[in-house]
Amino acid sequence: MTAPVLEVVDLRVDYKLRGSSRALRAVDGVSFHVGPGETFGLIGESGSGKSTVARAVMRLAPIATGTVTVDGSPFHHLRGRALRAARRKVQMVFQDPHESLDPRMTVRQSVSEPLVATGAGTRAEIAARADALLSQVELDLDHGTRHPHALSGGQKQRVNIARALALDPPLLICDEAVSALDLSVQAGILNLLLRLQRELGLAYLFISHDLAVVAHVADRVGVMYLGQLVEVGATAAVVGRPRHPYTEALLAAEPQPVPPSMRRERTLQLRGDIPSPLDPPSGCRFRTRCAYAQDRCAAEVPPLREVEPGSWTACHFAEQLQLAGGAGH
Ligand code: SF4
Repeated sequence: MTAPVLEVVDLRVDYKLRGSSRALRAVDGVSFHVGPGETFGLIGESGSGKSTVARAVMRLAPIATGTVTVDGSPFHHLRGRALRAARRKVQMVFQDPHESLDPRMTVRQSVSEPLVATGAGTRAEIAARADALLSQVELDLDHGTRHPHALSGGQKQRVNIARALALDPPLLICDEAVSALDLSVQAGILNLLLRLQRELGLAYLFISHDLAVVAHVADRVGVMYLGQLVEVGATAAVVGRPRHPYTEALLAAEPQPVPPSMRRERTLQLRGDIPSPLDPPSGCRFRTRCAYAQDRCAAEVPPLREVEPGSWTACHFAEQLQLAGGAGH
């Protein structure tokens, strides 16, 4: 196997609660890897912990235990200058394209900023690199003189992607990177990301609550529930033949059209809200909302296990359940 660009092993993230000796465990024992040129999608409802995983990888959330390795080097224990240097290898594209840009800077200044900050060349070299980055994200060079308020949402996100690419990172984390955009603009940004991946061999950790978006871009996908991974596998397998009842329920709740080959034949609603991570249910954390729960589910924690090559699920009854998936997979 080629060495992964990102390897996360048994990651736990705890937030101390103000005025209490308790901690909120937002991520609990998550492991996955992303290979070179691969897109790994993380999906789940709001509160599932998927964005906290991204923030922990970036070292923006407190890692309690576990390891994060980027491009072969341990990343989880770095501090100060070593952390700043290592962060060049992982860049992030956030949900709100406007918030991520300094309104006082022109587009060219924004794109050049990481290059200037790291002393990545002479003024002329940096200017040439900034222009090349603008072309790479399909913006005209005259966009370089504009300020963010004069750009559309899609154009702003292209500027953010250009900034993220400035230091040639092998890994990009896209955290709900198209969620704030109109559907037609989303498609343009997703196609841009796919083209950049083909051309530059980038690896993506792609986080979204939107299954249709993840199904469009991800090679493999991990489904998160209440801080844990409950299913991992090739995207076509997870979406076409889910192995975990939570994945089945997410597919049923999908508000936007998914490709016909991935449509489901029957509907199953997700019941109730996601429980508090401060007081997760005993046994299987999904049992309070699961249509298939049995007594064993309250008593025993189902481990994430490989039910067929490359397909992992955390359900006691994965082999017995006939969960609805799309035809053609
Ligand atoms: Fe549902 Fe039980 Fe499977 Fe959990 S272990 S997903 S509660 S059937």
